[in-house]
Amino acid sequence: MSYLELHDVSKTYGDGIAQVHALQGVALSVDAGSLVAVMGASGSGKSTLLTIAGSLEDPTRGEVFVDGRPLSTLSRNGKARLRRQSIGYVFQDYNLLAGLSALENVSLPLELDGVAARKAQGVALEALEDFGLTDRASHFPDQLSGGERQRVAIARAVVGGRRLLLADEPSGALDSTNAEAVMRQILAACHRGMAAVVVTHDAQLASWADRVVFLRDGRIVDQTMPAQRPEAFLADLPNA
Ligand code: ADP
Ligand code: MG
Repeated sequence: MSYLELHDVSKTYGDGIAQVHALQGVALSVDAGSLVAVMGASGSGKSTLLTIAGSLEDPTRGEVFVDGRPLSTLSRNGKARLRRQSIGYVFQDYNLLAGLSALENVSLPLELDGVAARKAQGVALEALEDFGLTDRASHFPDQLSGGERQRVAIARAVVGGRRLLLADEPSGALDSTNAEAVMRQILAACHRGMAAVVVTHDAQLASWADRVVFLRDGRIVDQTMPAQRPEAFLADLPNA
């Protein structure tokens, strides 16, 4: 089973004539170590997809499995624990706490999960080191560029062995150089075994993903596989 699976997931908001079908029969699997990009027009259901995949909202129909566990069987507390320990979120507007340094922002989720402050800060520093942000550790968010803030937010999302990274337009507010740096960091997290789903409007960045999923009116309309490398064709030939 993939690390994240959505089986026939639908989400309806409201009722009567105000009803909105934000997702309709969505199936999606994301393996550990792989990156799926989600594209689609505004209102097509991209954020809803991430919210439901991350257990922040329940689907109206269908089931979400994270690490083989059906989310519908988890209690409120069980879901909260899953989010604290296994799922990292990244938003377009970084959501760093202004009163905390980069290091404290990254160590906070560990401390909230009961890790002692000293140990949490050690682990957080390693996460910042991994992403080349060591020299920003003591900076506060308003002393960082937008790109650096987002990279700190990604370090916070992956710290402590989280396995699922959900990023909603993480590069939406960045210039192309910083957007690429953010995407590279997400790819690095995947190479270390995370499963990642990234919403982006940038086809160039989406092409870095293992798979691109298109949403339209809450339905998946296309899943483009990346072009196969020449070796892949040779592998099927005898004696190759
Ligand atoms: P996207 O991220 O692709 O722009 P969303 O997932 O945010 O799309 O929204 C999909 C649809 O669901 C839209 O029509 C939006 O208005 C609606 N929607 C999203 N969240 C809510 C909500 N909490 N209550 C009512 N409607 C919502
Ligand atoms: Mg959105």
